[in-house]
Amino acid sequence: MVTSQLLLPKDGQTASTLRCIEFASDSAIACCGVEMTYQQGEQSIPVLKGIDLAIKEGNVQLLMGPSGSGKTTLLSILAGLLTPSKGRVYLLGQEITRMSRRQLTRFRLHNIGFIFQGFNLFPALTALENVELALKMKGMSGGPKRSKEAGILLEKVGLGHKRDSHPRDLSGGQQQRVAIARALAGKPKLIMADEPTAALDSQSGHLVIELLRSLAKEEGVTVVMVTHDPRIQDVADNITYLEDGILMREPQWIMDS
Ligand code: ADP
Ligand code: MG
Repeated sequence: MVTSQLLLPKDGQTASTLRCIEFASDSAIACCGVEMTYQQGEQSIPVLKGIDLAIKEGNVQLLMGPSGSGKTTLLSILAGLLTPSKGRVYLLGQEITRMSRRQLTRFRLHNIGFIFQGFNLFPALTALENVELALKMKGMSGGPKRSKEAGILLEKVGLGHKRDSHPRDLSGGQQQRVAIARALAGKPKLIMADEPTAALDSQSGHLVIELLRSLAKEEGVTVVMVTHDPRIQDVADNITYLEDGILMREPQWIMDS
């Protein structure tokens, strides 16, 4: 976490920088004044128009909003996969929007686990091998050690008995749980999930959500989850709604309809 020392002004820091650092100091994830405009030929497409968001450690934060409202864009910016046109992003007390590409890649690898709608497992690898590969990428040396750790992670998501199955032999819910085991490789402090239940039936979806919630509550992992599945709302600590490029506490598009 950020120490109070960081609140002292440094050369070149404006009042708004200091406000932002203060805002971020108590949070695992924070962003200030984030704007994103995509350029398509001559056309500028403003998608995010000034996003301030702070998420405390161990919380499950939902990011909701209609399709095309910019949820994936915001999650990608919070995860350091996309550079915003404007604004700052702080993760675990460090400003990632000031990091070099190399520093950022390293930071992401060690601190963030990703879960996507489409699972993104390697079809030729077994469940165990998919998780082992993630451990290898994160720098864990020693085949037997990786294999043991991958087995532990699969047990954790309730799939110890499926370790030798290939993705094609697993249900959607089971594949997503393998993807969660893979995201947990290397014990990241942050989990970023983009519509993790969109391709699942409600029972598997529920299992996946419960798993993410227990990670947050029992291990202090901070979870940001993009969804437009209203059934997920009861497991969240906080929900914000993205519409017209800004964040709102209430879902405007539901109130309108
Ligand atoms: P959501 O995840 O809420 O559906 P996205 O963040 O994927 O929304 O997209 C928000 C808007 O930005 C959409 O209008 C989309 O077409 C546009 N967009 C997303 N990515 C790009 C890109 N790389 N180039 C241009 N426009 C994009
Ligand atoms: Mg999306």
